[in-house]
Amino acid sequence: MTRSLSRRRLVVGNWKMNGTLAENKVLLQALSQASFDSQACEVAVCVPFPYIVQARDGLATAANPITVGAQDVSPHASGAYTGEVAAAMLADVGCQWVIVGHSERRQYHDETDQQVAHKVAAAVAAGLKPIVCVGETLAQQQAGQTLRVVASQLAPILALDSQVIQQIVIAYEPIWAIGTGHTATPQQAQEVHAAIRAGLPSELADGIRLLYGGSVNPDNAQALFDMPDIDGALVGGASLRANQFISIVTA
Ligand code: PEP
Repeated sequence: MTRSLSRRRLVVGNWKMNGTLAENKVLLQALSQASFDSQACEVAVCVPFPYIVQARDGLATAANPITVGAQDVSPHASGAYTGEVAAAMLADVGCQWVIVGHSERRQYHDETDQQVAHKVAAAVAAGLKPIVCVGETLAQQQAGQTLRVVASQLAPILALDSQVIQQIVIAYEPIWAIGTGHTATPQQAQEVHAAIRAGLPSELADGIRLLYGGSVNPDNAQALFDMPDIDGALVGGASLRANQFISIVTA
């Protein structure tokens, strides 16, 4: 089995709720100076809302392109939704990406699969590329429910128009692997990625990028990226250290 050449590698950093102007400045400077093959691998960072402009400007003259995204988006286009941020606003300040349905938002904000699908539609309508996160809990994994859980999380998204579906990136992030240091084995991740790809509309399946996320680090990245259906990674903790993040990119 080989990877389709139509899918360029993609590594995305998820800074989560971390950073200050001063800390970000150091990280962004290091990322700007990093050398990697940007033809082979596309790189992005998804940062907290207040730091999007700082990241955009800090990466504007990077040696190799690194684009910027957000970590959540409103399903609504505009109006009386205090505290929410519209997809058009994210696009307006230079975002190209938005993480949607991260397990921390599903867990702490009770986001449903349907709400995630609405956010995906709103993001694509504004020209953003949504990175849709799916993944099972440890209990679900131990009960052998992984593929069923992931399929049901994706179902409302796969009911959207094919013009929307073709813009998405899917990140398989087993919850038991996020921030725990327990990565899925390459074989475990590949099995889920292959099942996700098999469930995509056949005319789109070969072009949609599937990322793995969950304790990816410079030591385990290469073996994961060797799998035919793993097209890159969504990286949390290791994305806050420029040297680790770039080592993952170069893997
Ligand atoms: C994440 O939160 O998306 C993630 C993958 O985190 P970590 O790499 O720290 O497990």
